[in-house]
Amino acid sequence: MNKQTIRDVALAGKRVLVRVDFNVPLDEQRRVVDDTRLRASLPTIRALQQAGARTVLVSHLGRPTPGPDPSLSLAPVAAALGALLDAAVPLAPDCVGPEVEHMAAGLQPGQVLLLENVRFHPEEERNDPAFAAQLARLGDLYVDDAFGTAHRAHASTDGVARLLPAVAGLLLEREIDYLSRLLESPERPFGAVIGGAKVSTKTAVLTQLVKRVELLVIGGAMLCTFLKSMGHDIGDSLVEEDQLETARAIAETARARDVNLLLPTDVVIADRFAADAQAQVVAADAIPSGWRVMDIGPDTTERIKNAILACRTVLWNGPMGVFEFPAFAHGTHAVAMALAATEATTVVGGGETVAAIEGAGVADRITHVSTGGGATLEFLEGRTLPGVAVLLDR
Ligand code: ADP
Ligand code: MG
Repeated sequence: MNKQTIRDVALAGKRVLVRVDFNVPLDEQRRVVDDTRLRASLPTIRALQQAGARTVLVSHLGRPTPGPDPSLSLAPVAAALGALLDAAVPLAPDCVGPEVEHMAAGLQPGQVLLLENVRFHPEEERNDPAFAAQLARLGDLYVDDAFGTAHRAHASTDGVARLLPAVAGLLLEREIDYLSRLLESPERPFGAVIGGAKVSTKTAVLTQLVKRVELLVIGGAMLCTFLKSMGHDIGDSLVEEDQLETARAIAETARARDVNLLLPTDVVIADRFAADAQAQVVAADAIPSGWRVMDIGPDTTERIKNAILACRTVLWNGPMGVFEFPAFAHGTHAVAMALAATEATTVVGGGETVAAIEGAGVADRITHVSTGGGATLEFLEGRTLPGVAVLLDR
């Protein structure tokens, strides 16, 4: 990475303001249900502790309306993080102001303070310069380790980074290293497996990837848009009419570059969108009206598995079907297992895709599970992420 990291700067005794992504799911009792994001930040926090830094963590949680909202307090996160670090992590009553400054100033080397939800202040998302200046009073140095919000220019990802020496944390560095390798120097053959709900959210990434891969697998709801763009009848499946032209253009680029564009030959269809719907397998060019595509079919799944196993690098974003319903989870599960089985470099990104990988119990067999949803896609689209651009160059 061409940005400075915490390894490039002096940390001992410094107050280090670290933007983390602690936007974790909470249950009704407001307990942390999934601490993946907390664990992902541990390497950076531990490195800062070991270097004798005084660490101030800042994060958002959820989408609060302006003003404090107890249901979106980071208190449960402070408790869960304390358990992981085996040391109490105090929670500041707010993320700015004299009392918080006093708490930050009183930290001893190695100690960690968590600030209250930064989005309680609407100035955060507005990237308000005065608010960023208040945040900047809490640190001598700024570290961005929140890859999941690096595509947003907010006060805690952009404004404050302009006011303090700003470097990357270890998680951010790892994300950029893996994702830029995919774009710049993947081991070939390089395959991308793209699915999910909509073509429109993936158009830009598909347009980029089709220029870089040897294999492009299309699954999920968007396969219907591709099938329709080729003149197939797709029954009552979801189609984005305004994306038909884009789908055609992507298929055209694939042909011109001799990319293996792997579209389903068979699909699982249902008579309605429900877990207990009637289901059947049909050829992808013979979807009867009154039915909708819910998953890729068994022959297609087999072809995808074989194609994945022939690759040296595989990127996966977007479930192959409505995997939330067990009856329609087979294609998604098979892709997860194929990625777990291959020796290739495997990178998985996207909120639902990562949930599917975790549901299949194979996250630890994936080379890199990206913590970003939108940020991962924007990076792979070739866009510059504001939260990364603002960091000090090497
Ligand atoms: P990610 O968050 O991994 O980027 P998306 O948000 O693009 O993925 O899409 C995930 C959603 O796509 C899942 O909730 C899944 O149910 C849905 N999906 C996949 N295939 C279909 C389909 N054939 N019909 C309707 N929804 C689908
Ligand atoms: Mg999603």
